[in-house]
Amino acid sequence: MEERFSEIRGDSAEAGTEYETFSQEETFRLGERLARSAQPGWVVALNGDLGAGKTVFTKGMAAGLGIRETVSSPTFTIVQVYDGGRLPFYHFDVYRIGDIEEMEEIGYEDYFYGDGVCLVEWAGLIRELLPEHTVWVTIAKDPDRGFDYRKITVARRQTF
Ligand code: ADP
Ligand code: MG
Repeated sequence: MEERFSEIRGDSAEAGTEYETFSQEETFRLGERLARSAQPGWVVALNGDLGAGKTVFTKGMAAGLGIRETVSSPTFTIVQVYDGGRLPFYHFDVYRIGDIEEMEEIGYEDYFYGDGVCLVEWAGLIRELLPEHTVWVTIAKDPDRGFDYRKITVARRQTF
């Protein structure tokens, strides 16, 4: 498959790698590509404003793990579990979380330190709970570059 997103700065994993996408399909494919190298225990922290493309990226990751179920934002639950792929996929959306105790209540550690792949939308809201090995993905718009432009940073440390 042709990969149309472009890498604008390839760097060490520590400093992060920046990508540019120009459509939701390209963001989807970037998520798909990341998921192909996913290992058991991965935690991906996604940040970016409302409408940035976090759920688009999540759907790409699910596809890259071989999940065929439709992935939508877990609006009424904090985590949605998808078991149909190469690895279990745990999709968190913590946007509406009131208190991080809600994470304790759902037993988040079993997911974050388990054998599946976790993805957390709005991860900045629970940053103190995220493991050391978290991969940080930040999606940013740039109005000067057009409506469909996104800059996506993938890094081993917090990038926002
Ligand atoms: P979030 O989960 O961050 O709130 P969504 O993924 O639900 O955002 O929505 C992103 C919206 O932006 C979608 O309507 C999508 O079509 C649009 N969009 C436009 N360009 C892009 C792009 N390059 N990458 C991702 N989404 C894009
Ligand atoms: Mg979303």
